[in-house]
Amino acid sequence: ESTRRKKPNWLRVKLPVGKEYAKVRKLVDQHKLHTICESGNCPNMGECWGAGTATFMILGNVCTRSCSFCAVATGRPPEYDEDEPRRVAEAIKLMGVKHAVITSVNRDERKDRGAEIWYQTVVQTKALSPETTIETLIPDVKANWDALYRMISAGQEVVSHNMETVESLYRRVRPQAKYNRSLEQIKLTKEYGKRTKTGIMLGLGETKDEVYKAMDDLVAHGCDILTLGQYLQPTKMHIEVAEFIHPDLFDHYREEGLKRGLKYVESGPLVRSSYHAERHVNV
Ligand code: SF4
Ligand code: SF4
Repeated sequence: ESTRRKKPNWLRVKLPVGKEYAKVRKLVDQHKLHTICESGNCPNMGECWGAGTATFMILGNVCTRSCSFCAVATGRPPEYDEDEPRRVAEAIKLMGVKHAVITSVNRDERKDRGAEIWYQTVVQTKALSPETTIETLIPDVKANWDALYRMISAGQEVVSHNMETVESLYRRVRPQAKYNRSLEQIKLTKEYGKRTKTGIMLGLGETKDEVYKAMDDLVAHGCDILTLGQYLQPTKMHIEVAEFIHPDLFDHYREEGLKRGLKYVESGPLVRSSYHAERHVNV
């Protein structure tokens, strides 16, 4: 059974230790912030936090959705935390982050989809740290395009929105999302003038042709940057890993993506959408 199958050695990672790690940990806790690094049990925490990078998750840590791969709790989120943008901006300043990645849970219960907190967080971060570049990994706004434009008009350099998987697996993996709606969101983001980015997890049972099709769809909708990484099951309650993709196939997908017209492809077993994100600012 795949869950009991031993992870191949290319997925083994070092435990997070060290001075920088301890500093990031302390600042995150002091400011009562949430990171996707922790919520998502990311295997790169040693590397990223050791280098002073973290991905902040705003709008609380309870999500209105229940994606089958995701370790974030599902439920009724708390009230808007109006002070959150200030705390995120301050933590980023104190950490001396050169490139900040900010993401959020989905707030489908809110008419504005959380756009105002999004806007404030980016604007306040830019005000405190003018040299810091920002990637915002935004949720599916459910075709509320006013909310989209509010979220992406705050001066961030990169706007990502993760497709997560190929079209045929949406029902199982991202039940409240729609493949074409997410593509449309990327297209409008590009037309608005932003650098666009998306991430797809592999090893959920997708075929090669489906990955190629997703690449072509992304190019047709103006996506600039693609990240491809191995899906890892956060707990037994989550969707099982169908396959551990060999590093050679990740390399192949990188070549294929570039051939098909993507500007930049980050592809490897441990790649997460925020991995090496600083490299995507000037793509
Ligand atoms: Fe955090 Fe992203 Fe690094 Fe993982 S890859 S530790 S989520 S910044
Ligand atoms: Fe997790 Fe995002 Fe899905 Fe919410 S919308 S369950 S945070 S992946």
